Amino acid sequence: MKLLNEKSKTGSSSFNVRLLDIQTNIPEELQRVDLDLPELSEVEVVRHYTNLSKSNFGVDNGPYPLGSCTMKYNPKINEVAAKIPEFNIHPLSQHNKGALEIIYQLQQYLCEITGIHAFSTQPAAGAHGELTGIMIMKAWFEKRGEKRTKVIVPDSSHGTNPASVSLCGFEPVHVITSQSGGIDLGDLRQKMSKDVVGIMITNPNTLGIFDDNILEITKTVHDYGGLCYLDGANMNAMLGVVKPGDFGIDIIHLNLHKTFSTPHGGGGPGSGPLGVTKELEPFLPNPRIIKENEELKFEQSNESIGKVHSFYGNFGILLRAYSYIRAIGTSGLRNVAENAVLNANYMKEKLKGHYHLPYDRICQHEFVIDDSLMPNGITTNDIAKRLMDFGFHPPTIYFPLIVKGAMLIEPTETESKENLDAFIEAMKVIKEEAEHNPEKLTKAPLNAPIGRIDIVHAARKPKLRWHSK
Ligand SMILES: *Cc1c(COP(=O)(O)O)cnc(C)c1O
Repeated sequence: MKLLNEKSKTGSSSFNVRLLDIQTNIPEELQRVDLDLPELSEVEVVRHYTNLSKSNFGVDNGPYPLGSCTMKYNPKINEVAAKIPEFNIHPLSQHNKGALEIIYQLQQYLCEITGIHAFSTQPAAGAHGELTGIMIMKAWFEKRGEKRTKVIVPDSSHGTNPASVSLCGFEPVHVITSQSGGIDLGDLRQKMSKDVVGIMITNPNTLGIFDDNILEITKTVHDYGGLCYLDGANMNAMLGVVKPGDFGIDIIHLNLHKTFSTPHGGGGPGSGPLGVTKELEPFLPNPRIIKENEELKFEQSNESIGKVHSFYGNFGILLRAYSYIRAIGTSGLRNVAENAVLNANYMKEKLKGHYHLPYDRICQHEFVIDDSLMPNGITTNDIAKRLMDFGFHPPTIYFPLIVKGAMLIEPTETESKENLDAFIEAMKVIKEEAEHNPEKLTKAPLNAPIGRIDIVHAARKPKLRWHSK
């Protein structure tokens, strides 16, 4: 698709800024007389942007089974709530009682959903919540006068986990994954010592597996005085079914933009609220919004790690999450989890036999297949590219790192059985093509506006701006 600059034709402007009779006090020598803007008629501009928007793929276009990212459909009612004029307020106006009440109630809901004592809504992303959580772990041991240096992180974890650990000055120590897809208990026991700050677990993990040994894991870490952090970015399988507080979690972050209905993926604002136990509550970011005798109050704690975001986080996202929880209610939350798990297991069972399942057992909201059964050298990358031709966003590929040629598939609860079947059918066709027509796969995508790109070239020599000739 051509850029506006390339489509420009001298003299075809829809209106001319220079002809507008604008009075300014800007000295003449500072005024720009010549601005190299593309010249196009209004209809050309409208068509350009409309066609550009149609080249994009989002969950409003079609299924988006991007594992670990929970690209479920975000009901428009929550967008309506976020647009209520009275809530479209200047950040300072977040001090208005209505806004504070929403944040306070949301904190309470998150406590109830997770079984965790107290939440702060300040962190603006999952990774931001992680960093805040590790800072609290650090503050906890500093207060106790203990010098600990290591944080245990499973080898299947999201890359942000070891990154947050390092950023806080701790050393990430990998614990390996067992044959059954959970944490290898023997390895964990071997790596535990009084030098360990704690563990960062993802459960269900990035293989989509709920760790059967979770109670044993948290007990092992607690026995050494360590803290248990849960990366709760993927809460979709647990809503209304399991409370992480019940399996020994001390600190957790949630991704409101994944589980609780905020459009994401474009790098826009997110929200990664952080929850902690009663013992750790004083370390949460200041100020906290609490209620005393039915009065909303700000609470400042001397032991707080300080502020991690202006005001109380990204209010618009908090509003959407509040609206989402209220709209679907307690039974709705449980339905989300049950259907997310059902859809993933349905798809997994249907793909079994056609694709290799490195962990062939009941999964939670997502599951992993790999390309080891593919003939003619067809790879995960080829499968992903070809899926685009069938109208699907590809799943997450080559992650988790512990599975060679991994495809992490998360159908989510918002896809109909027809869509799940269409995806399964596309995957079967792709398997057939790999045998009889592998060229089709190595050249895919065949129907997309741009074909197969040279990814090395794109990464090493990105063309990020337009240059006039
Ligand atoms: C998405 C995700 C994160 C990071 O969340 P961001 O909001 O992108 O920073 C961390 N852990 C897991 C398991 C995730 O899926």
